[in-house]
Amino acid sequence: MTGSSPDFYAVEELLEPEEIEIRDRVRAFCEKEVTPVVNEYWERAEFPFELVPKIADLGIAGGTIEGYGCPGMSNVSAGLVAAELARADGSVGTFNGVHSFLAMQSIALLGSEEQRERWLPEMARLEKIGAFGLTEPAHGSDAVALETSARRDGDVYVLDGRKKWIGNGSIADYVIIWARGEDGAVGGYVVEKGTPGYTATVMTGKTALRAVWQAEISLDGVRVPAENRLANCHSFKDVSGVLDRTRYTVAWRALGLATASYELALAHALRREQFGSPIAGFQLVQDKLARMLAEITSMQLMCWRLSKLADTGRMTAAMASLAKMNHAAKARAIVADARDILGGDGILLDHHVARHHADMEAIFTFEGTDSVQALIVGREITGLSAISGRKPNRP
Ligand SMILES: Cc1cc2nc3c(=O)[nH]c(=O)nc-3n(C[C@H](O)[C@H](O)[C@H](O)COP(=O)(O)OP(=O)(O)OC[C@H]3O[C@@H](n4cnc5c(N)ncnc54)[C@H](O)[C@@H]3O)c2cc1C
Repeated sequence: MTGSSPDFYAVEELLEPEEIEIRDRVRAFCEKEVTPVVNEYWERAEFPFELVPKIADLGIAGGTIEGYGCPGMSNVSAGLVAAELARADGSVGTFNGVHSFLAMQSIALLGSEEQRERWLPEMARLEKIGAFGLTEPAHGSDAVALETSARRDGDVYVLDGRKKWIGNGSIADYVIIWARGEDGAVGGYVVEKGTPGYTATVMTGKTALRAVWQAEISLDGVRVPAENRLANCHSFKDVSGVLDRTRYTVAWRALGLATASYELALAHALRREQFGSPIAGFQLVQDKLARMLAEITSMQLMCWRLSKLADTGRMTAAMASLAKMNHAAKARAIVADARDILGGDGILLDHHVARHHADMEAIFTFEGTDSVQALIVGREITGLSAISGRKPNRP
């Protein structure tokens, strides 16, 4: 399909029927349930709890996980779902990303069989919500240096430390806290809602993703049963493995925001008249639209191919980083151009682009900043790591 469609190269022809079906199902859901209500939640900085049971009915929670009541989608389907949710709203997309990917994937990849059976089915039904607690006030990009500690005391682990930016951290039933054990190795500990010593405070004053909550978390002598330690997490490398397996969905989310912004800008440009003509008839506006579409088309093809590689187990960490880096930067430029094409309306929530424009800033930063993704790719292509940036030893 060409013309005004954002699918200029008929990428849809590369999709399997079930991938088209889930994409269209999520798109219809978003048009009916998310887009009409989300601006108000965003403006009030409230989480749209009303959508949680409706997302549960969509049957998407758990994404690519097979069994345990999860949908076991292809990575292409999971990417399309991520893009469609983000096309409607970055906050709702982030909620699903944290729950279905960061939290549920941690359990699926690093939990024992018993732990998967224990937690995943009710998370797949969204009766229980998950969170992923890695970042700390002093450790963002260098989360590898996390300081939260886990000390064994009989049949429990005692957690102490602080976390920051934890999506769903104030509402989740199961918060996976990444902490350093007495042997120095990082492990994952599932803290259940209501555990004494766990305090989550919703972060306020955000200018992006206002309709999903992140929390600052204090862990003061939190006692977690030993059977809540993820059985197959042995080091930070395992945590990185979860992030590597979820990062490609962030690239798809950037594509979703970019696509929405392009569509809104095109519709606006065709409708809005200045100097007696639709602004879409002006060469400078057409130049912007053409360049936006070129980037979106390349992003679609990269996303599709990356997910296909993931489907056959060939997606590497650097491949996912390349897409996250590229797509977040390109989407950031596209939403900025879209905001410009809308003129003053571009900063009014009613027209949706303002929300995408603001939300894109958070997506640009989370799950690894632009620079950190570049360094992961750089390490892969040169064999040299430039990440640690250690000060040289001076006498
Ligand atoms: C909306 C939102 C939701 C989030 N959700 C979660 C969540 O659910 N769970 C969770 O654990 N975390 C979450 N995060 C945290 C997120 O992953 C971090 O914000 C991110 O990793 C960056 O860390 P930082 O904010 O501390 O920035 P910093 O690490 O302080 O980075 C600041 C700047 O320094 C640059 N920089 C850092 N190191 C290098 C380097 N080696 N070379 C070059 N430049 C460098 C960065 O690129 C950036 O430009 C979330 C963040 C946001 C904003």
